[in-house]
Amino acid sequence: MLNDALQKLEETARSPKRAMEAYRQAGRPVAGCIPEYTPEVMVHAAGFIPFGLWGGETTIMLADSYIPTFACSLVRSCAEYGLNGTYRGLSFIIAPILCDALKGCVQTFRVAVKDPPVLPFSLPQNRTLPSAAAFTAQEYRALGEKIQKLTGAGISGQAMRRSIRIYNEHSRAMRDFDRAAAEHTDVIGARARQAVFKSAWFMEKEEHTGLVRQITRALEERPACRKNPARVVLTGVSAGSAALMELLEEEGFDVVGDHVYQDSWTYLHPIREDLEDPVMALAEHWIQVGGSCVAHERRRSRSAAVLKLAKEREAGAVVLCLMKFCDPEEYEAPLMLAELKKSCPTLTLDIDQNSDNLEQLRTKIQTFRDVLDS
Ligand code: SF4
Repeated sequence: MLNDALQKLEETARSPKRAMEAYRQAGRPVAGCIPEYTPEVMVHAAGFIPFGLWGGETTIMLADSYIPTFACSLVRSCAEYGLNGTYRGLSFIIAPILCDALKGCVQTFRVAVKDPPVLPFSLPQNRTLPSAAAFTAQEYRALGEKIQKLTGAGISGQAMRRSIRIYNEHSRAMRDFDRAAAEHTDVIGARARQAVFKSAWFMEKEEHTGLVRQITRALEERPACRKNPARVVLTGVSAGSAALMELLEEEGFDVVGDHVYQDSWTYLHPIREDLEDPVMALAEHWIQVGGSCVAHERRRSRSAAVLKLAKEREAGAVVLCLMKFCDPEEYEAPLMLAELKKSCPTLTLDIDQNSDNLEQLRTKIQTFRDVLDS
């Protein structure tokens, strides 16, 4: 049972396009969600399968005409897939305006990618103002109206409350898996762990919750087993490809936790179910985000959160997965690295979706391993 569920999630993580086509052939409409902090719940409540658009390993042929080469590789890949037709078949795409690269991405879709249409929305950065939650809720409501105008699909309060319950249940399942996986690295290596988290972006949440619960139950029935003494936690927007996880495995690292938006970080906090207005509950979910490079904080809390996680999971090192040319992440990195390195050996790896050359990363990981062993 464990292997079957794991295999299904690994296949989905490997071939998102195939997963999207399978939904469409089954008559289920699919809508793209460009990260980060996109309110998938609204897409779900409108009756679409929310589908994470995380770019992918691709050579840029078309996007360079619209997006500068110094934009992050996630956005460049998304634009490339939009321009070359990979995203055709999606009913629409929603995209947050969170950073300059995303602004450029949205403009590219508006100007050069008519199919699927893109529906942007803004998220406020000054989240300490009392009006910030109301502004966010207003943006979400406007987004809901755009979805309705385009597709005819309205979003009722009842549907929103149901979707919030489904998403909270999924988040609980992911947190349980995360803890169980850290104590069963003999079965859940870095690649398998990443596949469980990645596949969540390409699968209906109800189905994903069921499969993840199966895996967690099977792990909990087994005695705890740590494969390698070298335990690391990851941090970043995305921890990159399965090939990078394979490199970490080859060099004898167990990944036992992460503060990675694409992986477990997104499941930390539930959306409130006790508020009368579910759109406001979703807005408050954004307001309380902490420790993220794309959510402004007066006092940055990310390094403390990463170190706390490393301590809890008995990890001896941190790996910062730095999305190449991600302005918010690169702006935060010097201060964060200085704080991390005071308490824990820390390795920085560049994540570049537009290059398949892993040899530099291999050398850095091997050297880091030697330093830890010495
Ligand atoms: S936050 Fe960073 S990784 Fe995310 S879209 Fe903006 S530049 Fe790219």
